[in-house]
Amino acid sequence: MHVLRGGRVADVDGTRAADVAIADGEIVAVGDPAAVDAALEGDDTATDATEPTETDVSGRVIAPGLIDAHVHLMMDGRPDVATATADSDYTASYRAARNLRAAAEAGVTAVRDLGARGTLAIDASEAVADGVLVGPRVVACGRNVIMTGGHGNWFGREADGPAEVRKAAREQLKAGADVLKCMATGGVLTEGAVTGAPELTPAELAAFTDAAAPTDTPTAAHAHGEAGIKNAVEAGITSVEHGTFMDREAAEMMAERGTYWVPTASALHGIVDHGTEAGIPEEAVAKAEDAAEHFDDAWDHALDAGVPIAMGTDAGTPFNYFGDIPAELSLMVEYGLSPADALEAATVNAADLLGLDGVGRVTEGYRPDLVVLDADPNADAGAWRDPEAVFLGGDRVV
Ligand SMILES: [Zn+2]
Repeated sequence: MHVLRGGRVADVDGTRAADVAIADGEIVAVGDPAAVDAALEGDDTATDATEPTETDVSGRVIAPGLIDAHVHLMMDGRPDVATATADSDYTASYRAARNLRAAAEAGVTAVRDLGARGTLAIDASEAVADGVLVGPRVVACGRNVIMTGGHGNWFGREADGPAEVRKAAREQLKAGADVLKCMATGGVLTEGAVTGAPELTPAELAAFTDAAAPTDTPTAAHAHGEAGIKNAVEAGITSVEHGTFMDREAAEMMAERGTYWVPTASALHGIVDHGTEAGIPEEAVAKAEDAAEHFDDAWDHALDAGVPIAMGTDAGTPFNYFGDIPAELSLMVEYGLSPADALEAATVNAADLLGLDGVGRVTEGYRPDLVVLDADPNADAGAWRDPEAVFLGGDRVV
């Protein structure tokens, strides 16, 4: 039993003074000191050997841990991702272990890996669950399903035609994927790919979502251009990743169907803010600069239409580090969300998208994935930087 005393609690239900008691991987009491004491006294498992420990968090704020709906555990933020193709799978795995640790220390308590080599991210999920690695819980897609020569072809599973796409999707499910990810358009970081051009066809996307349907597995589509976004939404995809060139019609379709948008502002900023001087290939910088011009409009359309938003960073892409994941919330605020909306996107919305129950709020019965902050994240999106303490399932890691 561990009690956090004297602070405030902030989540999607607001910010209020409350103590929080944690025991056996669960939040067992949230409330005024007397209510928490009563819960402790009623705890018949408590013995002298399990005397509650207390941490004074007065002046501080206890918030749910952040959930990042789009990362690449095997990548390390290097300027030219193509240079990582020469690394062995083992090297990529060690990098993933380091990234998981960095994310946990930044207050991230769950991540969704949307594309790795082989079963690297699926195995990372198991390693975290078994306590082999310290890190946020991992939800993983296995390999990306892409057209031959499409975006990310150095690690994606290439497939052409509905039958092959269906098989490629089923291979990921067989390998243990929790979510399926495909490329509906080109991308910024693949040489020769046209950022917004459609890649998988409507018929291929339909086969992809159909393969996920029997097990209710969520699906994610990388999509920059509006045609690719609409193709993905019409195929019933669960989330559109990036959505950089989203137009009004695409936004309205997404809002109507409840399709999540994962904007990954950090990815675009990592490239545009560093540029060719930092070693990012010229073509990638030019494509990112073009995309950045349209990204403001995408936000306007999404906010006007009421598209549900889940926080995601694309961590691992150039200058987009796992330790900086909380900076995405400040970027989302620059694009028009309130700090409270950004908190919602990074907690309850992302938990819903990832299919994680019992996380994203500081409430009784929930998993103690918690961060202790110096300021109220419902009022200040910068509050997420440098957490005072981080609890993963009740275990303190910072
Ligand atoms: Zn990505």
